[in-house]
Amino acid sequence: MDTVVLKFGGSSVANNEKLQIVADKIIDFYKNNNVVVVVSAQGKTTDNLIKEAQSLCNNPDKRELDVLLSTGEQITIAKLAILLKSLGYNAISLTGWQAGIYTSDVNQDAIIKNIDTTRINQELEKRNIVIVAGFQGITSNNDIATLGRGGSDTTAVAIAAAIKSDKCYIYSDVDGVFTADPRKVPNAKKLENISYEEMIEISSEGAKVLHNRCIEIGENHNIPIVAKSTFEEGTGTTITHTDDIEGTVIKNIVKKEISRISIIGHGIISNNDVYKKIMSIIEKNNLDVLTIDISRSKIAIVFKNVVSDDILKELHDEVIGN
Ligand code: ADP
Ligand code: ASP
Ligand code: MG
Repeated sequence: MDTVVLKFGGSSVANNEKLQIVADKIIDFYKNNNVVVVVSAQGKTTDNLIKEAQSLCNNPDKRELDVLLSTGEQITIAKLAILLKSLGYNAISLTGWQAGIYTSDVNQDAIIKNIDTTRINQELEKRNIVIVAGFQGITSNNDIATLGRGGSDTTAVAIAAAIKSDKCYIYSDVDGVFTADPRKVPNAKKLENISYEEMIEISSEGAKVLHNRCIEIGENHNIPIVAKSTFEEGTGTTITHTDDIEGTVIKNIVKKEISRISIIGHGIISNNDVYKKIMSIIEKNNLDVLTIDISRSKIAIVFKNVVSDDILKELHDEVIGN
């Protein structure tokens, strides 16, 4: 019997009605396959947990924030397992650590180092539907770590690679990958197929539909990824190695909000102290930098994402003073 991994994102599991739709989809697959399910936190739960932490202090401790954020996915696995069991199906919920997901020793943006599949495989052999919390794992210190926003996609494809599953389905609120974000560009067209290479570019440029790291895992382990809608009957988009021999088809257009912070002052180029201060703030806050342009009187840092005004304040106080 084939094994499939099905991942359902936050909008797919937002309430009890939607959980029922998800349960029906899982049951359909379970008739002919072994099934591992990866779920996200319900709806806006993760955003709300971040706000709650920030209402306690401006810069919540990263380790403790991960403990808090990981609870979102834990609620979903329990609810889905309760529902499936009540419908008469064998199901078991597993947190990241119970599922053997080991990460790097980084809070908030950990990468998956390896997956000990013993428990998942034992449960599959018992014909359990295995429901794993996305977005989380444990560090070498047995601390909970999360994988970065949108990281449940990466959990799903990593599990698919570890258990050598035949396919990984990523369900969300759109029927696959479009030529642009269909919520912003009404004429965007759905793509039936796309290569890992192109999809990595699209995700890295900020299209939310798939976490960029999940595509890299798919490519490295040759796992076809199918992005589909939980709510519409469609064919979705299949992401695999390209079979184009030669082609120049334009597949996508993406807009992303990023931040550029410039520090200006005569002779800045020869002031090593300023440069060191800037770098230490970038490092301390774990910020992703795209480029740094240095000219005689300016250092401009282009970040990969939007950075908060707290960073501006911190840089100001450090290089200009309070
Ligand atoms: P989930 O919560 O299930 O993980 P996401 O919100 O992360 O789902 O991803 C789905 C969203 O991605 C869609 O609602 C859509 O607005 C957005 N999106 C951005 N770019 C694209 C694209 N090129 N194709 C499809 N969806 C896109
Ligand atoms: N719940 C996490 C987030 O909102 C992970 C995910 O949904 O993939 O970012
Ligand atoms: Mg997502």
